[in-house]
This record gives sequence, structure tokens and C-alpha cells, in this order.
Amino acid sequence: MSRPILIVGGGPAGLAAARALTQVGQPAVLVEKNSRLGGAPILSGYARLVPSGEWAKDAIGGMVARVQQERRASIHLGTTVKTFTGAPGNFTAELSDGRRIEVAAAILCTGFTHFDSLNKPEWGFGTFADVVTTTQVEQMIASGRGVRCPSDGRKPERVAILLCVGSRDRQIGRPWCSKVCCTVSANIAMEIRQELPGCHVYIYYMDIRTFGLYETQYYWRSQEEFKVKYIKARIAEVTSDGQKLIVKGEDTLVKRPITIPFDLVVHAIGMDPNVDNGAIAQIFGVALETHGYLARGNSYGNTAETSRAGVFVAGAACGPETIDDSIAQGHAAAVRALALTLPTQASA
Ligand SMILES: Cc1cc2nc3c(=O)[nH]c(=O)nc-3n(C[C@H](O)[C@H](O)[C@H](O)COP(=O)(O)OP(=O)(O)OC[C@H]3O[C@@H](n4cnc5c(N)ncnc54)[C@H](O)[C@@H]3O)c2cc1C
Ligand code: SF4
Repeated sequence: MSRPILIVGGGPAGLAAARALTQVGQPAVLVEKNSRLGGAPILSGYARLVPSGEWAKDAIGGMVARVQQERRASIHLGTTVKTFTGAPGNFTAELSDGRRIEVAAAILCTGFTHFDSLNKPEWGFGTFADVVTTTQVEQMIASGRGVRCPSDGRKPERVAILLCVGSRDRQIGRPWCSKVCCTVSANIAMEIRQELPGCHVYIYYMDIRTFGLYETQYYWRSQEEFKVKYIKARIAEVTSDGQKLIVKGEDTLVKRPITIPFDLVVHAIGMDPNVDNGAIAQIFGVALETHGYLARGNSYGNTAETSRAGVFVAGAACGPETIDDSIAQGHAAAVRALALTLPTQASA
């Protein structure tokens, strides 16, 4: 039997890679540092996913269950890789649970870290209980209890969603666009309007990037069908008058200052590089790109390649990514890694 392929990270990308490999009879070792599989959608308790509308616990939970049922998948939870040596087709990995495994290749599916809104203190997170993040709103919706003000549990009558929190912000060293937060925010805005039809929902934006087909389904639908209001603005600060949260800024279309009261303010947080990336780069001997994500070795010929032969990468580990693209990349990396289990390819 051929050597297994090591997959690091059990989110959508890693689960897709594991499933693709084991379905064609290839053993895979899946190493996940957390005590659960599923990656951000499960670990952070997302609600209905964009664009399918399926609950994360069902859609990604289903992916987890299918991998867990695969007898060719050896799953190590609460585990990391300590050392990784050797050459394509013939690597040795030492795991933190004390095991040593021989593998043909590795696929890094280690994902991203959510932006910590405490790094944007002027927008009120950490100061006011009713300033929350998109992940917190996702958790409120997923819990079935609905969207409420954390300070006193009341139903909000006015909600502001602030886009690009921790993205497209060169002042705090995060110039990248996190790709999904415009669409996720429009989706959350519609869910709030559906649950609380009397609630006014405003989205503060720099630009709207509901890319591709999402423009109709999220940007236009949220305005036309759900009456979500969009304000093109530069936000200065989020304060409080003791009763309401106050969002202050400038309406950049009419170039006038605006000050609007809200009950709940939501930060649409971005996707930072995984905080582990420095260690991962060192252990696996792979390069990082300029923002700190894992660097791809090739843009067209073999998109799963890193700078080290036999070590592949997929999903949000290499930059902000959607779930469906992370899954597609997991499949692509699996095919590339599989080639190294063939005797004629092992030394190529
Ligand atoms: C608020 C929010 C909502 C979103 N909603 C949607 C949506 O509705 N639809 C959509 O398409 N996308 C959405 N996304 C994006 C989505 O989260 C990502 O596309 C997806 O999680 C990427 O999957 P992944 O497997 O690459 O990474 P992750 O989901 O980040 O999984 C990585 C896994 O690797 C593990 N790991 C990390 N480091 C190590 C290590 N050193 N060793 C071992 N294991 C490690 C982690 O614990 C984790 O389980 C959203 C993002 C945010 C911020
Ligand atoms: S997707 Fe939208 S909210 Fe997210 S960083 Fe890009 S422009 Fe900002």
C-alpha cells in the first residue's frame, strides 16, 4: 500500500482533500489542532452559509461526518506537526501526540484567523457591549435565539453593519480585501430584517464587493426586497450617548458629516493570515507571501504548489477565500499530492 498523504487542518479545504483521497483508496492522515473538525464554519458557529443558504452545521457537519466514516482516514485531533523532513514521496512527520509517520506528501489546509476587532478600538468593540462582530451575529442566529443586544437582551430597532473591519485598512497593516464579508453582511442584514421586520438595518461601506453572481442575490435583493439601506461612508468613531450607540463619520457621496444612533453595531471582520503561519513556514520549509499567508509556488500550472516540492496548499491558508473555492482547492491539491504516491513520480 502506498504511503499516506498528510493533511494539516480539518476545515472545508482539508476535509475536501481527505475525502477526495480516501474515496480513490488513498490513505490520508488528517492532523487538526482543535478538538473538533470543521474549521471556521463549525468552530466559530456560522449560521446559514453564502451562497447555498444551508446551515453550516449541516453542510460542513456533513463533510465532517463523511470523513469520519472513511476507514482510510486517520484523524488526529488536538494535534500539530512538530517536524517535517525528507523528500517528495518519502517524508517523515513528527506529531505532537508523539507519533512519527512516513508520508508521501503534505497538504497545508491551515486556514485563517479572524481579525480581532480590539485592534480597531475607535469603532467601539471591547468598549460597548452592543458592538459585536459578524461571527457573534452568526452565532446568535445559529443558536435560534435571534439577534439581540448583548447588554440587556432587547431586540434591536436599528442595526449598523460596518464593512471592511480589519481589511482594506493600510493604517493597521491589512491592505487586503477579505472577499466574502460584503456578501456575508448583506446576507446577515436580510436575516435580521426577516427576523425583526421593524428593525432598520444600515450597511456602511467603502465599496461593495458582492462579486460575480452574488450582486443580484445579495446586493440588489437586500435593498429591493429587504429594504436594507447602504451608506457610502468613512467612519470616524463609534461612541455612546448613554442610551444609543452613535456612529460618526462622513457620507462620502455628499461629503457631509453624518451622526446616526443605533442599538447594535456589527463589525464585518476580515480574514487575517493564520497566527501559526510563521511556525508552519518554518516546520514545513515553505515561503510566505508579503501579507503573511502561505505563498503559492505557481499561479497556473499547479496552483496547489508551495515553494517546497511535495508540500501543497489549499483554501484560506493562502489568502481570503470562500468555502466553495476552498473545497475546490482541497480537491485540486489532493490530485497533485496523489501523483507523488505513484512509484514513477516519487522522485520527480
Ligand atoms: C464571519 C465570516 C463568515 C463567513 N461566512 C462564509 C459563508 O457564508 N460562505 C463562504 O463561502 N465563506 C464564508 N466565510 C469564509 C470561510 O470561513 C472560509 O472560506 C473557510 O473557512 C476556509 O476554509 P479552510 O479550510 O481553508 O480554513 P479554516 O476554515 O480556517 O480551517 C482551517 C483548519 O485548520 C486548523 N489549523 C490551523 N492551524 C493549524 C495547525 N498549525 N495545525 C493543525 N491544524 C491547524 C484550524 O483549527 C481549522 O480547523 C466566512 C468568513 C467569515 C470571517
Ligand atoms: S469583501 Fe467587502 S467588506 Fe470585505 S474587505 Fe472586501 S470590500 Fe471590505
